[in-house]
Amino acid sequence: MIVSRRIVLHFPGRLVDRPIVYRLIKDYDLEFNILKASVTPEEEGLMVLELKGKQEDYDKGINYLTKAGVRIQSLSQNVIRNEERCTHCGACITICPTGAFELDPLTRQTSFDNARCVACGLCIKACPPRAMELHF
Ligand code: SF4
Ligand code: SF4
Repeated sequence: MIVSRRIVLHFPGRLVDRPIVYRLIKDYDLEFNILKASVTPEEEGLMVLELKGKQEDYDKGINYLTKAGVRIQSLSQNVIRNEERCTHCGACITICPTGAFELDPLTRQTSFDNARCVACGLCIKACPPRAMELHF
């Protein structure tokens, strides 16, 4: 059976320069499409991937990534904003790798577009009043 999943990979600093994803094609016969890649200020690498291949190859590839030290997150997680807590400080705007937040220059209000969110979790740590929440 062929599976196709969207996942987020978090690379610790020591793995950022290593050809980890390349080996997914070479050793596990998987196809991938990079939807987003970035390195955060803490030097953590973040990559949003669409990974496709036979179920057994997919499972082996995920196992390889996990053993290599990559943290994997499924996109089935949902991030929401608690509007009552948000103070529109704007701290989330620069930290979000997919541009899910926007500042209205006139009202100085920050909007959140859930459809652009890939559930990486970065804004949850960065939001001072803890307005961003991860739901399963
Ligand atoms: S960091 Fe938190 S409080 Fe600040 S604008 Fe973003 S969601 Fe609102
Ligand atoms: S979890 Fe936050 S920082 Fe990550 S993509 Fe979603 S809105 Fe952006």
